[in-house]
Amino acid sequence: MMEKSNFLTERHKKLFHRHIIIPEIGETGQIRLLQSRVLIVGLGGLGSPALYYLAACGVGEIGIVDSDRVEISNLHRQILHGEEDVGKEKTVSARESIMRLRPDIRLSLYPFRITAANAPEIINRYDFVIEATDNFESKFLINDVCVGLRKPFSHAGISGMYGQAMTVVPEKGPCFRCVFDEVPASGTVKTTAETGVLGTVPGVFGIIQATEAIKYLTNCGSLLTGRLLTWDALSMTFREIKLPPDKRCSVCRKV
Ligand SMILES: [Zn+2]
Repeated sequence: MMEKSNFLTERHKKLFHRHIIIPEIGETGQIRLLQSRVLIVGLGGLGSPALYYLAACGVGEIGIVDSDRVEISNLHRQILHGEEDVGKEKTVSARESIMRLRPDIRLSLYPFRITAANAPEIINRYDFVIEATDNFESKFLINDVCVGLRKPFSHAGISGMYGQAMTVVPEKGPCFRCVFDEVPASGTVKTTAETGVLGTVPGVFGIIQATEAIKYLTNCGSLLTGRLLTWDALSMTFREIKLPPDKRCSVCRKV
């Protein structure tokens, strides 16, 4: 059961002191974070920093979905895992790292792939979803289920020295399918196993995703809804592309 305490313990006041003195967060925002549930789908380059920071910042309960085991080629960007974790399930390795940081957190492990059959039941338990997957099938699936359930989520994608992020709040702006339409034909989009990825690029985007979750949960600031943020690390250029809602999107139309 979720702890629905409406006050902070003395330990929490010390732990989160530098959050609490930010006017936009305050004690109220910190209590909201401690009462919140976030789901992270994918514990790779994006999910590693997103999970670390959401746990550090005081989210009360986090669900983690990943069917993979740690490989040595993951370690330059997937900072949840170390050399001795190679071969372990990523969810298990992640739990070991996070329990050192936040022993009071509630973690739910889903050590399998998200599918059309299991996604609605899993996603429905959470307040916000971090879409940190590495393939278009999962990205469109998470989008379609989240829009159907009216669950907000943060999308990010990375390749080489480039990345992008947007936040989808159903009925408040365009969804991933409004912008990207259909799953690309297999083989037309290269994976990071083929293009490579600079270790810091998913680090930046995973933290942007965690920040969007925190802002949504504490109801502060402006989210990346209706705008796509891109970062080219090579030229060190951030850009923002305005996204008009697409009324023709087959998923949004049904909501
Ligand atoms: Zn849409």
